[in-house]
Amino acid sequence: MKKLVVNYKPLPTVAYPEDEGFLLRDHQQEIYDAPTVPNRMFVACGGSGKTVTQEACSIKEIRKSGFMQRQLISAPQSQICQQFAKKIMLRLYCTKECFDKKSGRWVCSHKIETWHVRRTDNLADDTSKGVLARLEQFIMRPYATQVSMAAKLKVANSYHGMVAICTHAALTRTYTELIEPKIKSGEYTKAQVKAAVNNLTNRCDESHHVGGLTTVEKADQNGLGRFLSFCHKNRGKNSRMFFTTATPFREVADIVGKDIHFVTTTLPFSEWCHYTGIEQIRLTLEEYTGCTPIPNVAKNVGNEPTEKHLVIDPPDGQKWVVEFEGADEGANIAAMHAMHTAIQSRPSMKSKIIIETITPGTLRKHIKRNLIINPDAADCILTCMLVREGVDVPSIAR
Ligand SMILES: [Zn+2]
Repeated sequence: MKKLVVNYKPLPTVAYPEDEGFLLRDHQQEIYDAPTVPNRMFVACGGSGKTVTQEACSIKEIRKSGFMQRQLISAPQSQICQQFAKKIMLRLYCTKECFDKKSGRWVCSHKIETWHVRRTDNLADDTSKGVLARLEQFIMRPYATQVSMAAKLKVANSYHGMVAICTHAALTRTYTELIEPKIKSGEYTKAQVKAAVNNLTNRCDESHHVGGLTTVEKADQNGLGRFLSFCHKNRGKNSRMFFTTATPFREVADIVGKDIHFVTTTLPFSEWCHYTGIEQIRLTLEEYTGCTPIPNVAKNVGNEPTEKHLVIDPPDGQKWVVEFEGADEGANIAAMHAMHTAIQSRPSMKSKIIIETITPGTLRKHIKRNLIINPDAADCILTCMLVREGVDVPSIAR
């Protein structure tokens, strides 16, 4: 057994009153204040505020451009997209000095910006009708239309129509099924394409999903990579990309090669963790040979019944799950059931709730939603491919 213990000293945080606006954290402020560049990447771990950074920078660009610069926000899954649709008040023009710690009040008259994405601008529900067509209209909006919109929005002081939120899948389909064929047939002229892609910021969240943006990875190009390559190839002076991810690499290669320059800011976990309240991280590597780790895991979970556990199984055909191959329900589900039974058989776990997340169809969706809304409902979560990026499981200790 190998053990590694890392201690962190949590930093004292200022308690700003809720509902009076959110002040950017230092690392967010740094990016917000940075000069505009064509391509930017923010690499930071989950929970460190990538979403708010994108929102603050969107507001800045919309205002600075006189309501001309459209913001196209995309994320891999619908529930991550919904995070971008939440209303939030931002104290973008404030500094720490605007807050009086003694009285616990804001003592300035700076304007507060409200990030509010209207329902019609939130195109993240793939099942709703007309999403692809609306996305196409947003991306290919003619310059003259944008100019007349900008005049009205300035008067109304509204971002309505300047932001679109969508899934990576919807974006990929919009490009390959609607935009690309019309370019090929000549329905969209080169000038129209150039005008559309100019004044467009692609804010791509979980951007390690972009495959083949550069020549390095051309062979692995996916739909998202094709769309962004299209934007890059037809770029104008205001065409921008802002990527956010916790993992800017795939296997051994960077997600963007050297032929497209990204200005990258990295917030390592070792810096961020001081703000999280985490005091200690203990990592234990337990070797197993010739059999599954199921008995060991069940024992470890059962030994600490008052802690919250997250147990992640490998997918089908991987690691020890292979030995469940041939089971009616699929190797990984069979392995999960074996793990479930083993944990439940521990006397200390008898009264505990165990949520088996690998459940087909509607129930799976229901459990996923419950986990996101109420992660405290389970003492031990068994999962395979469900609890991944964009899913917060804040109460897990093990
Ligand atoms: Zn202020």
